[in-house]
Amino acid sequence: LDPEEFRRQGHMVIDFIADYYKTIEKYPVLSQVQPGYLKKRLPNSAPYNPEPIETILQDVQDHIIPGLTHWQSPNHFAYFPATISTAGFLGEMLTTGFNVVGFNWMASPAATELETIVMNWLGDMLKLPKSFLFSGNGGSVLQGSTCEAIVCTMAAARDKMLSQIGRENIGKLVVYGSDQTHSTLQKASQIVGIHPKNFRAIETTKSTSFALSPEVLKSTVCSDIEAGLVPLFLCATIGTTAVTAVDPLGPLCDVAKEHGMWVHVDAAYAGSACICPEFRPFIDGVEGADSFSLNPHKWLFANLDCCCLWVKNPSALVSSLSTNPEYLRNKATDSKQVVDYKDWQIALSRRFRAIKLWLVLRSYGVNNLRNFIRSDVKLAKLFEGLVGMDKRFEVVAPGKFSLVCFRVSPSTISKANPSPSDHDELLNGGKCVVNEVNCKLLEAINGSGRVHMSHAVVGGMYVLRCAIGASLTEEKHIAMAWKVVQEHADAILATMD
Ligand code: PLP
Repeated sequence: LDPEEFRRQGHMVIDFIADYYKTIEKYPVLSQVQPGYLKKRLPNSAPYNPEPIETILQDVQDHIIPGLTHWQSPNHFAYFPATISTAGFLGEMLTTGFNVVGFNWMASPAATELETIVMNWLGDMLKLPKSFLFSGNGGSVLQGSTCEAIVCTMAAARDKMLSQIGRENIGKLVVYGSDQTHSTLQKASQIVGIHPKNFRAIETTKSTSFALSPEVLKSTVCSDIEAGLVPLFLCATIGTTAVTAVDPLGPLCDVAKEHGMWVHVDAAYAGSACICPEFRPFIDGVEGADSFSLNPHKWLFANLDCCCLWVKNPSALVSSLSTNPEYLRNKATDSKQVVDYKDWQIALSRRFRAIKLWLVLRSYGVNNLRNFIRSDVKLAKLFEGLVGMDKRFEVVAPGKFSLVCFRVSPSTISKANPSPSDHDELLNGGKCVVNEVNCKLLEAINGSGRVHMSHAVVGGMYVLRCAIGASLTEEKHIAMAWKVVQEHADAILATMD
C-alpha cells in the first residue's frame, strides 16, 4: 500500500460517492435489471494485469449502479431504513483504515475499551437499567446483526438450562416468539439446536395491534410444560418488522420469569427511538429481561453494520462462547481484568465498530440524534395524514414510529368491483380481491422506479409499508411518494370500473 496513491485514489472515491449522493434521485429506486444481468457485462475471469481506478470506477458507474436498489435514495421507503451519516461513513473509514482485529484486549486495547465506553454511553442514553451495564455487573458488545446477537444469547440460555437439566434433554427445549417476530429467531433456534417442532410463533391479532399477548404466552407455556417440555427462551420485539407492534415487556417478562426462561428484547429498528424521552416508555419493563439489542445501522445513522447487545449476565455468554487456544494466551487475559470480546460473539475476528458509533454519538450529540428521530416520526405523521385524507385508503395499525402501513380499503374495492360480494375481504374464487389489488398497486409503484415501498401480510391483510427514515428524505419526498401512490391507485381502480 502506497500512502500517497491511497490518498489520491481515496479522494477520487469520496468524490465519486459524494456525486452519487447528489444525483441519486435520477436512478430508479428499485433496480430494474433482470437476473443474471451482470454476468453478461463483465469478463469471465479476473484481469491478469492491474487496471486503473479510473476504469474501475467507470465500470461501477456503468454496470454496478444499474443493479443497485438505492437504499440511500430519499425515495426509498421499503423494509426499514439503513441510515447513513457523514460521521457513520467517516467512522467506517477509520474502522477499515486501522483494520485492527481486536479479538481480545491485547490485540488492540483501544478497540475493546472504546467499545465498553461507547456501549455504556448508549446504554445511558436509552436509560437501560444499570444491571445491563458494565458498571452494574452486566455488559455489552457490538456485533454485526441481530441474528448473531440472538444466536449468542440463545446459546447462553441453552447451556445454562442444560447444565441444570442435562444435555441429553436438548430435545425438550422450547423457544417462543410471536407470528410477528423476525425470522431471525427461527434461524437462531435452528442454529442453536432447538428441535423444529419446539419453535412457537404464537398467533397475534388485530385486537392487540399484533403484539404478543402475555395470556396466550402463558397458556402456550403451560401446555408445553404439561407435555413434558422445557420453556427456554422468549424473544419479545419492540417495533416488529411488519407493523412495528410493541410487545408488552413487563407482563411478558413476568410470565417468562415464572418459568425460568431467558428473555431477549429485539428492538432492532425501534430501539433507537428510545433515546428520546417520549419513546422510552416503549421499553418499560426491560428490567425484567436478560438481554436487549438494537441496530444503529437501521435508525441511528451508523452505516452498516452495527448491532448493540446488552446482557445482564455476561458470564453466561462467555461460558457458552469462550475458547482458549494456546496462541491467544496472554497476561492481560490471565489477569481477568480485561474483556476479551472473542468470547462474546460467534467469530474470532472482529471489526473495530466502536469507533464508528463513537464518531456518530460525538459528531451529532444526543440532542441532534433525538431531533433526527423526531423529524422522521413527523414525516411519517405527515404521510399518515395524507393517507387519511384520501377516503379510498385506510391506515392499518397505528404507526408508533416512522412506519406507515396502509392499503386501499375493502369498501373502495367493493364499490369499484361490486361483484361477487361486498363483505370485508371480497373472496373471489378463493383469492382475496382486496389483497390482489393492493399487491398490484405495490408492483406498479415499485415498477415506476420513482419510489420503493415494501409489503407485509398481517391478520390476512396485504398492506403496503412506507418506512420513512432514509437520511436524505425531506418533506417534498413524502408529498411526491403519496402522489405516486395515488396516481397508480387511480389507474388500477379505473380498470375495475
Ligand atoms: N429484528 C427486527 C425487528 C427486524 O426488523 C430485523 C430486520 O429488519 C431484524 C431483526 C434482522 O436484523 P439483522 O439483519 O440485523 O439480523
